[in-house]
Amino acid sequence: MIPVTKPFLPKEEEFREYLDSIWERQWLTNNGPLLNDLELKLKEYLDIKHLLYVCNGTFALQLAIRALQLTGEVITTPFSYVATTSSIVWEGCKPVYVDIDPETFNIDPSKIEAAITSHTSAILATHVYGNPCDIDAIQKIADKYGLKVIYDGAHCFGTKYRNRSVFEYGDISTTSFHATKLFHTIEGGAVFTKDPDLLKKMLYMRNFGHNGPETFEGLGVNGKNCEFHAAMGLCNLKHVDQILEKRKELSLHYFERLENVKATFPKLNRDKDYNYAYFPVLFESETLRQKCMVKLELAKIYCRRYFSPSLATLPYVNHTDVPICDDVVKKIVCLPLYHTLTLPDLDLICRIIQRTQNYELAAPAEKKDFGLQIADKIETEINELLPKKDSLS
Ligand SMILES: *Cc1c(COP(=O)(O)O)cnc(C)c1O
Repeated sequence: MIPVTKPFLPKEEEFREYLDSIWERQWLTNNGPLLNDLELKLKEYLDIKHLLYVCNGTFALQLAIRALQLTGEVITTPFSYVATTSSIVWEGCKPVYVDIDPETFNIDPSKIEAAITSHTSAILATHVYGNPCDIDAIQKIADKYGLKVIYDGAHCFGTKYRNRSVFEYGDISTTSFHATKLFHTIEGGAVFTKDPDLLKKMLYMRNFGHNGPETFEGLGVNGKNCEFHAAMGLCNLKHVDQILEKRKELSLHYFERLENVKATFPKLNRDKDYNYAYFPVLFESETLRQKCMVKLELAKIYCRRYFSPSLATLPYVNHTDVPICDDVVKKIVCLPLYHTLTLPDLDLICRIIQRTQNYELAAPAEKKDFGLQIADKIETEINELLPKKDSLS
């Protein structure tokens, strides 16, 4: 079985060392030494002044919205994971969708101004697949209209924008350290800001508002994380450069092998160092995307439609016309990408896609004559590979 992603796991001994230290101290949560160490090491690694480690990436978004005291309408992208929208609604604001750029799949800044009303308080945009938004254009609009900017950087660990961590941009940036992300702490997330007042506010908010054992600074809930998750983070941080390197290598192989496939890939922001967090493919048609997925599943290769559905179609939002997003949602799929994906497996994925396309694009007469032959060939190839795959996993 080849899944779309596999969580990175360090050697058990590495994790056990941290567990032993937890048992020794019997300090499990509430700002323990491992959590402090992880925050420190993350700041070093990302070369960033401030961050707060929290329980997950969705809470990070909620915390950002709360800390900025957003109200009314928040302009956002329809092309992201559901948490980008659900956190806006959960915090009592109304998401207003702006269509995406057809080449980067990030929110299209040229369409933001038309969506601004007297109720707009902020822009919440996702750096989709770890590829930075047009940060300058978004900031210019925010400055002009006095709006706050939050970036959902859940895919961005390791991405740099103009030689700085992309987490430095916006009033607040957030990220997720969920097990499926490039760098993870099983569950976890973080908020980033350069504003010391905002930082202080979020620091109290993540811990019930406590500023002493029996005193409170303000309203807060439980958004903190624990020693066990911090331990996983400390282990994984030691391997993250190698994970980034491997994903890049695999992605470059994909590009090469898919050269003749009628598909496009997101256009990367030229000011960035990309982290290759995902390998999205935008097929020429919805049919081709569907057929490729079916053929891949026959070979027990499971891709994921990041992102489907369009968030502008969720049952609890005002449905909005976002034609580019709707089109992309139909045609896009993320191919398997993880540190232990092998080149033979990657080649197989690409061959299946290539052949499915060749068959789809063959003239009707050709299809009739040769179609079965080609289809058979794919099936044979898949069948040959199946037993081998099982013994591998
Ligand atoms: C994963 C993800 C989140 C949510 O993060 P969790 O840590 O799972 O809560 C939010 N936004 C995007 C874009 C994501 O991919």
